[in-house]
Formats: sequence, C-alpha cells, structure tokens
Amino acid sequence: MKKISDGIRTITDFPKPGIEFKDITTLLSDGELFRMTIDTFAERYRNEHIDMVVGVEARGFIFASALAYVLGAGTCLVRKPGKLPHTVHRESYELEYGTDSVEIHQDAFEPGQRIVVIDDILATGGTVGATAKLISNNFEVEIVELAFLLELGFLNGRKKLGNHKVFSLVKS
Ligand code: 5GP
Repeated sequence: MKKISDGIRTITDFPKPGIEFKDITTLLSDGELFRMTIDTFAERYRNEHIDMVVGVEARGFIFASALAYVLGAGTCLVRKPGKLPHTVHRESYELEYGTDSVEIHQDAFEPGQRIVVIDDILATGGTVGATAKLISNNFEVEIVELAFLLELGFLNGRKKLGNHKVFSLVKS
C-alpha cells in the first residue's frame, strides 16, 4: 500500500542554497494519496463537532477546504497582509530576517465555535504560532488542534505553539 510520506519529495537548494524544501505537489497530484491524507484528517476530527477549518496561506487552503467539505464544516482563510477584503485582525511574528504578519477577517467566527487550524508544513512554528495567537487573542472559540501534513521535528516548531494540541500526519 502507498504511504503518505512517499508523496512528499525533497528539493535541495530551493528557494535558496542550503535549504531542503519539502515539495507536496507530488502528493497533491496523486489522487490516492491526496484522498488518504484528507481521509486520515477527517477520521481524526469526525466526532469532534468541528465548526470551522482554518487554512493558512497558501498550501493550507488546499487541505482546509477538502477537510471542511468532508466534515460539513465551514472554512476560513488566514492570509498574508493586504489580501483579505474586509476588516481584519493582524498578528506579527519574527522571521530569521525581519517580520511577517498574518490576518483574519474580524467576523471569521461565532463565539463558541470549535475549530481546527491546518497547514501543510510545521517548520519553525512561526506562522502557525502567530495564527493561533491571532485567533485566541481576538475570538472566543476553541482551537481543538493544530494539524499538519508534515512536521520538520528538528526545527522544534512545537515549542512556539504553547499548550495547543498538535497533530502531524508525517514527521521527519
Ligand atoms: P514556519 O513558520 O513553521 O517556519 O513555516 C511554515 C510555513 O512555511 C508553512 O506555511 C509552509 O507552507 C511554509 N514552509 C516552510 N518550509 C517549507 C517546506 O520545506 N516546504 C513547503 N511546502 N512549505 C514550507
């Protein structure tokens, strides 16, 4: 049987020398592996009464929308600055050089909703750490879990995610 991890390939020196980039397009283009991926997430959250699946720009959107469809939940976009059309909340986070931010619509959730946040890769944890803060600082919702296709364990991204529950399908 195929394995989800087989769908992820490593591209050396992308986007710059010294970086080993995890390319998930090979997983997405394999219908069986993509379905296995979404089915595994769906199995995990099927009985969790999830109202919203939050996708982190950009590859998180792919998993969030498919998972939301299967769960019968809504989906919501966390985006880089200046992309969302309505009024937003913003959270900034440190990069190796400089800072970046994530934004969400101010009317993204109803109080009490149960949500899952999903992204393709957990690397240093900066992006999802800021996303979790963005949500918990501005909304009275329950973040059930932060979910990833792949966790790069050696970068210790979990340390930036506080007490949130974290689930990754594949660890490397
Ligand atoms: P972090 O903020 O955890 O350092 O980086 C995670 C974000 O950067 C995710 O949104 C993810 O899409 C992207 N990212 C970081 N490293 C990789 C990688 O090797 N492959 C892919 N596909 N995305 C990455």
